[in-house]
Amino acid sequence: MRDKHVVGNWKLNGSLAGNDSLVRAILAGVTPRAGRHLAVCVPAPYLAQAQSLLKGTPVAWGGQDVSRFEKGAYTGEVSGAMLREFGATFAIVGHSERRTLFGDTDAVVAEKFASARKAGLVPILCVGETLAEREGGTTEPVLARQLDAVLARVGAAGLDGALVAYEPVWAIGTGRTATAAQAQEAHAFLRGRVAGQDAAVAARLPMLYGGSVKGSNAAELFAMPDVDGGLIGGASLVAEDFLAIWRAAVAAE
Ligand code: PEP
Repeated sequence: MRDKHVVGNWKLNGSLAGNDSLVRAILAGVTPRAGRHLAVCVPAPYLAQAQSLLKGTPVAWGGQDVSRFEKGAYTGEVSGAMLREFGATFAIVGHSERRTLFGDTDAVVAEKFASARKAGLVPILCVGETLAEREGGTTEPVLARQLDAVLARVGAAGLDGALVAYEPVWAIGTGRTATAAQAQEAHAFLRGRVAGQDAAVAARLPMLYGGSVKGSNAAELFAMPDVDGGLIGGASLVAEDFLAIWRAAVAAE
């Protein structure tokens, strides 16, 4: 049985005062449970605040991206070592917003994944198809291409200890959630692809679903055998909504 993870992605949202109340409200409602992991991925300027509010609590924190470079003349970049210095556990890589709005190619995502690992972070590799790709019947080739780029860079062993998040682009921030069956099908496909290289790594790889997860649909999604939790955007900005998803993960088998 794999652990379950619920990870918030705050995206470009937050303020010192707003984060403070959000995090305090989350902490007030969290009941720790073995095998259940809760985290928030915050904008880089708030890493110090996350560290000071969350250190020693059951809630971990992380970055939303990581540079593929370690240091040097790369204006605006944040390295894995910098994230680690602020106590981050996780780094999201390959979020569809980075891929579509900021030009992160499969090759760049693979480099970022490798960089995160080298720094000692747990990468959360996001993969997912657009609506046009789903309707065109190319969901699996797209997922395979995105996953294979990382497998080619770090091997199956490099995925061991990381997380994968299946995030259909058409479900992100749209209020349109993949059905539990659609999520399960994609997760099983991705796990099978990793199993083709290393069955043991595939069997223990936590695979999160992301895309308009809410308290009302989390339980059904988390009940799927290959859905090991969620990557949560909008609902992670409201403590009660985020906690409802957490409770669904705690209650899941
Ligand atoms: C995300 O951005 O990773 C995400 C899943 O967003 P939302 O939950 O708002 O769809």
